[in-house]
Amino acid sequence: MKKIAIFLLLSTIAIHSLAQKKNEWKHLKETEQIVKFLASDELAGRFPFTPGIDKAAAFIADEFKKAGLQPWDGKSFIQPFTVTQLHFVLANVVLDSAPIEEKNVFAITNKELLQANERSTDFDTAYISKTDTFLLRAGKLRRTQKKNLVIFADTSHRKILSGISSQYQKYYCDFPEYNSFYNWDKDVIVVLTDKKPENWSVEYRQRAEYKEAKNVVGLLPGKKLSSERIVFSAHYDHLGIRKPNAENDSIYNGANDDASGVAAIIQLAHHFSKKKNNERSLLFSAFTIEEKEGFGAMYFIRQYDSASIIAGFNIEMIGRISEKGVGAADITGYEHSDFGKILQENLAGSPYKFYPDTLSWIIKI
Ligand SMILES: [Zn+2]
Repeated sequence: MKKIAIFLLLSTIAIHSLAQKKNEWKHLKETEQIVKFLASDELAGRFPFTPGIDKAAAFIADEFKKAGLQPWDGKSFIQPFTVTQLHFVLANVVLDSAPIEEKNVFAITNKELLQANERSTDFDTAYISKTDTFLLRAGKLRRTQKKNLVIFADTSHRKILSGISSQYQKYYCDFPEYNSFYNWDKDVIVVLTDKKPENWSVEYRQRAEYKEAKNVVGLLPGKKLSSERIVFSAHYDHLGIRKPNAENDSIYNGANDDASGVAAIIQLAHHFSKKKNNERSLLFSAFTIEEKEGFGAMYFIRQYDSASIIAGFNIEMIGRISEKGVGAADITGYEHSDFGKILQENLAGSPYKFYPDTLSWIIKI
């Protein structure tokens, strides 16, 4: 199946219905109101599983309804799915009869209990020495991993490991493609130690908590080719409340990232709904949990036959003027299809310009 997806990392583009000055001001005002609400302190940075993000979801669903969209499944604009949040309970590790402190143990697993010792046939072991580059060695071990794995790593790697463990594997979703990409189907335990032990035993416990996450999705059926779909998307979650800055402000409001993109898809929903001339079906989707793992987008795409999705525009951070100037925008994924070129050609003679994104190398499509 061929999937064409274009991710737009836009820096400045205003999307209007064809230039009617009077309407432009109205649209600007509406857009400002949408961004102001989504980025307000009341929504507390739209962190997943908080009342703030639920308010954002209800607001977006209401906007889709006002725009005349249909619920994605005929019943609701909310597209719910379950995410597992993993909470560390204990790590009981003994190396050559010496107990190891919990702070020296890190695991990548979605299981609530892992137990192994030197006689376990379903575990391999490896050692990362002081002179090894941790990320290179660990990455290679992970890619070539055949069984579950216990890695004994020299204590000099503590800093890099604690950096990884602070962001890794707090959340889990049962998506096979994602899991095989990250080898979630095989467990890894890393133990910091000064030497590779002869005898070892590991008991690692964590608690799984099941939480409901919500994408918000609306549909504008196509007039002719209704089984073919075009997607307009943006993520509506953000980073929530974190360390306060110099002004003692701890709310990450996320006006640019990505309330601006959500405002764009809401306005596009109004625009196409009024025009009533879309031949293909248009799906408007506000994704959740983008900042953590991108689970919202992954769940969304699993609801459709990917061959039916002709194009996808993901609109990200259009609230600031591009370094390339007013009216310029970057296309991430430009080199993966001819879609970027088509978009560029269609803007010829307009005040707007698309460029291939210089960050494209980060994103794999
Ligand atoms: Zn973003």
